[in-house]
Amino acid sequence: MIDFATLRKTFAEFSDGEPRFFRAPGRVNLIGEHTDYNDGFVLPVAIEHETIVAIAARADRLIKIYSVNENAAAQFDLDEPGAMRRGIWLDYVEGVARALMRRGVVLRGADLVVESSVPVGAGLSSSAAFEISTGLALSAISGAEIDRIALALAGQEAEHTYVGAQVGIMDQFISALGKKDHALLIDCRALTAENVPLDTSEIAVVICDTRVKHALANSEYNTRRRECEQGVALLKKALPAITALRDVSTEDFAEYQNLLPEPIRRRCRHVVTENERTLDAARCLKNGDLAAMGELMSRSHESMRDDYEISCRELDIMVEIADDCDGVLGARMTGGGFGGCTVNLVERSALDRFRRKIMQEYQKATQIEAAIYISEAADGASEIKH
Ligand code: ADP
Ligand code: MG
Repeated sequence: MIDFATLRKTFAEFSDGEPRFFRAPGRVNLIGEHTDYNDGFVLPVAIEHETIVAIAARADRLIKIYSVNENAAAQFDLDEPGAMRRGIWLDYVEGVARALMRRGVVLRGADLVVESSVPVGAGLSSSAAFEISTGLALSAISGAEIDRIALALAGQEAEHTYVGAQVGIMDQFISALGKKDHALLIDCRALTAENVPLDTSEIAVVICDTRVKHALANSEYNTRRRECEQGVALLKKALPAITALRDVSTEDFAEYQNLLPEPIRRRCRHVVTENERTLDAARCLKNGDLAAMGELMSRSHESMRDDYEISCRELDIMVEIADDCDGVLGARMTGGGFGGCTVNLVERSALDRFRRKIMQEYQKATQIEAAIYISEAADGASEIKH
């Protein structure tokens, strides 16, 4: 975790100003995978790994930023838009600043030092934590009370414009709107979100990183999106009112699935059933029924493995080891697929055993050393008062 005294010292070397501190968390998605671009539902939690920003206003119009993680400084002028998609980390900060300005926030120049405990590029959304922490910090020292949904949308816009990544809204929403001891049920069509209780006193959210990322991910992602669109076009013959797979109930799907050739049928079945599972999961959490929630996570993994076909050997091994372990309520791959992380709900009393077993057996089966992150459901972005 991040050492505050060191961060303060680093800031003092970088700036003459008196800093304020802001934070925003990374996230993991409990359930609801590949539902976002089908106008559906997702259910992420904010994790304890977070990005912290120390910030002080400047008299001029420069934004000067030092990243501890990158061990590098960079800057831009608020009055002179830099090129989009320079392919460097500054794109995230300038992107969010410009998106806030477009939303009418009048920004001041500032010095920033940022440090993150979210592993970068592991699929835990260090990018959203970076955008939301810097976006909140820049707004706050400019005296602007930024609406949290507007902040999230500004972060997403930064990725679309300055970074060039066509991401959904999940990562920025949970980082900006998350609440301690809650998951966030997000309606990706309505752009609304509801906190649902997730009691982590007895169970922990455990993320296991397979440490593999297969090159297939990008091309297969585009193929899946196309297959979903084809599915909607074919189902429209029977269900003319639908505009996305979100509009297809499991009952409708059972009745009209014969309109769909394989593999489109399997792809659509995943999305339709995953949306239902995600809504069921939110209900389970509200009722405190974590055992049923875990079951839904297991069904979700099977659906991604067999119907959406976005798992891989390493992810399946990781989930199988977890399923074999006492005290595990549910385990599934999370994120885009073809590598990355699994998410597990594990009884706290079983955590040590779980960790040992995953590390040993995954290493034995794959010759790869896994990384494990244990978390509670953390708070969304906030100012840290000292
Ligand atoms: P993920 O969001 O899954 O971690 P991404 O590729 O979306 O992976 O985002 C990672 C990128 O975000 C990094 O390559 C870097 O450009 C930027 N980034 C995230 N955190 C920081 C940070 N603390 N300092 C500088 N850049 C960061
Ligand atoms: Mg990202």
